[in-house]
Amino acid sequence: MSSKLEIRSNLKISKSFFLILVATALLFATTSVRAQESDEGPTYIVQSGDTLWDIASRFNVDLDALMAANGLEDGNLVVGQEVIIPGLEDVNGVLRTETVPYGDNLRSLQRRTQAPQSVLRKLNRLVSPTELYAGVGLIVPIDKETPPLSARISLNAGETLLEEAIRQNSDIWTLAEINSLSSTSATLPSEILYAPAGEDETVNANGLPSVFLSASVEKLPLAQGSTATIRISVTEDVALSGLLVSDKEYALNFFPDGENNFVALQGVHAMTEPGAYPLRLEATFPDGRVESYEQMVLIVSGGYPNDPILVVPPETLDPTITQDEQDELIATISKINPERLWASVFQNPSVYEDCFTSRYGSRREYRASDKSITYYGFHSGLDFCGGTGLQIDATANGVVVFAGDTIVRGNATIIDHGWGIFSGYWHQSESFVQVGDTVEAGEVIGLVGATGRVTGAHLHWEVWVNQVQVNPMVWLEQNFP
Ligand SMILES: [Zn+2]
Repeated sequence: MSSKLEIRSNLKISKSFFLILVATALLFATTSVRAQESDEGPTYIVQSGDTLWDIASRFNVDLDALMAANGLEDGNLVVGQEVIIPGLEDVNGVLRTETVPYGDNLRSLQRRTQAPQSVLRKLNRLVSPTELYAGVGLIVPIDKETPPLSARISLNAGETLLEEAIRQNSDIWTLAEINSLSSTSATLPSEILYAPAGEDETVNANGLPSVFLSASVEKLPLAQGSTATIRISVTEDVALSGLLVSDKEYALNFFPDGENNFVALQGVHAMTEPGAYPLRLEATFPDGRVESYEQMVLIVSGGYPNDPILVVPPETLDPTITQDEQDELIATISKINPERLWASVFQNPSVYEDCFTSRYGSRREYRASDKSITYYGFHSGLDFCGGTGLQIDATANGVVVFAGDTIVRGNATIIDHGWGIFSGYWHQSESFVQVGDTVEAGEVIGLVGATGRVTGAHLHWEVWVNQVQVNPMVWLEQNFP
């Protein structure tokens, strides 16, 4: 089993790798301009919103050469139009942009698309032969003559390609060729290989160890403040664990979701610096054996704005006063209930459904009214319009795990919905529930007020997903997982 230390060092390597990537991209930018002599080349189908300049920069070609190759004079493009990309003589087919799914590496991507690795590397200015970041958009040539492969096979320990060829009703030379093996003996046990696809087989191309039938992360690339859904399907009875190392380390909690299927929900912290972070999966067999997989996953900006400076009473910012409250809150939302209690999309907790005075994620600067302390943070929930006395509804079925007065959050309620999902309701003037109460979606749990760190009466509502406050609006629109 790999240590946490090792994952940290991977993180450091990845940052310098990013710099190399940028440097290489610049190098390519200066050399490729000279290479446009032919007007032959692969094509790209114009997508809505594309400009000629976008296309030229995406494929690293000169704008004039692009216009000349396509006989374009005014630069007008039509969605669906096929545009020749000059200067890529060794590339065929239609160029598409694909988001790298979790579980794909360059070798499995190359086997799946049947595009030579050299072409994938050239089109995408890749320098690492093995590593792809999940969530990155890659340019992939789709050759109409050579359909992608889909049948996934892997050799058992001690098995040769010949034995596999017999099982696949194929021959070793075909298997070696479509898997780009240098010789018919150049495979490793449990390496993922592809066989010629049958007609109606679904694409399941990945570079995962054999116990993982599939693994996916939605929605890639991950955005600050988003809720990530990680699904795993396994071939046999194993214990699953996982780790996302981002702004800190988050141990994933997997719960069963149908036979041999598991799901984990993980919040992405709003202040995580955009970049690539390791996501590790581990399957432990009953005999103690472990199969694991780790891949860098891209986290991108949530595009949150800055709020005006907020002036509040000094005691609501003093860490010697607020830290105990914070610790108690973290302890409350860290107890993971393995039973899923919510049933569907979350209900709106406010009577004003579409009116907000502040949204999730905005960057905030709190200043003490006596100017003694300044605190930088982000808005961790959604503030609804409407003042003192309006009713507050439970957003989903759950159990009350906190109800009481606090300094920052005022009169606050926290409901546990199971699987590490919690909702919080702050600044109430009155609360109608107690710890241990079971509540149903839509049940009135309290009234809007102006208690705690506020500048006026409002309902602040937030959602926690495995120890992280996420954009709660998404939970009002999507039925997780
Ligand atoms: Zn708020």
